[in-house]
Amino acid sequence: SDLINKDNKATILLMGLRRCGKSSICKVVFHNMQPLDTLYLESTSKPTKEEFKSLIDLAVMELPGQLNFFEPSNFYDSEKLFSSIGALVYVIDSQDEYLNALTNVSMIVEYAYRINPKIHIEVLIHKIDGLSEDFRMDTQRDIMQRVGDELLDLGLEGVQVSFYLTSIFDHSIYEAFSRIIQKLIFELPALENLLDLLIQYNKFEKIFLFDINSKIYVATDSSPVDIQTYEVCAEFIDVTIDLDGLYETGAEKLLLEDKNNKPIKCISKLKNGTILYLHQMIRGLALVALVRIDNGDTSNLSQKEIDDNVKTQLSIIDHNVCVFKKSLEKMWESSRIK
Ligand code: GDP
Repeated sequence: SDLINKDNKATILLMGLRRCGKSSICKVVFHNMQPLDTLYLESTSKPTKEEFKSLIDLAVMELPGQLNFFEPSNFYDSEKLFSSIGALVYVIDSQDEYLNALTNVSMIVEYAYRINPKIHIEVLIHKIDGLSEDFRMDTQRDIMQRVGDELLDLGLEGVQVSFYLTSIFDHSIYEAFSRIIQKLIFELPALENLLDLLIQYNKFEKIFLFDINSKIYVATDSSPVDIQTYEVCAEFIDVTIDLDGLYETGAEKLLLEDKNNKPIKCISKLKNGTILYLHQMIRGLALVALVRIDNGDTSNLSQKEIDDNVKTQLSIIDHNVCVFKKSLEKMWESSRIK
């Protein structure tokens, strides 16, 4: 089957019952579809595979809910399939009766884990936009408890399962995918170290390394992620593409690795004095950061002196970010996947 991973890609398998939201997630995250437009999507009826180039090569496979993987005719292929994937992402529709889904996910986890004990198991408690704040927590607790019990019954108490509350109507789906993909990046600890160093030597408050197309961040420094900061930085990518008047070809242009093309850079000052900083990296990635420049005591300085100070600091930042980009290139040349 052409679903089997023959080359060196980190593959994510997306599963779940019919209408749980698999196609919508793919369309919104990887094809910039507006969430409301997913209302009219055809339900998945055959396995589909999408490939993405990011820091690592990624493939996301979507399997239709009804497909019975455990029929003898499918058995051989599904064994190969599960042994080749990095993460199993199982989507549960939290607005629907989910007991069937829980039985289904436990069965799939049992199967996947026996074939490939290194597989990451990720459960999306999806469509939470329809649930009240309190009910979300109750639902999460209930699902975690029941999945835990089912796995215990199957003798799989050692299996690590991660849960995420998601919706395509806000940034939670991007946050979940960011964390899922980061687990598949072999170089992540090294990357995080580099980003921490950048923070240490500059005036950065927060740095994300974004995949421009999907707005998934493949790495960030070790300070905690605040969803609002993420949103501001993700939106800045769109603004930059708009501003450059590149919208039609913008995404492609940003993906070009033409050595003669100057990398796209953009700087913008927010009302509170924080500066948004974007610098294009390799392989469709962009470094987006929040910078806080402290001018110290400005009472004796002219506006020009203040501006010059900001300029100097920004050019130091530019220099350091270029050094980071070089490290990234080196890292990429010797890159592997987990
Ligand atoms: P699939 O069969 O698993 O591929 O499911 P679809 O992607 O076709 O989604 C089924 C329905 O769920 C569609 O009408 C989507 O608009 C809806 N849907 C998907 N994600 C969300 C979500 O996060 N919140 C809400 N409220 N609806 C969603």
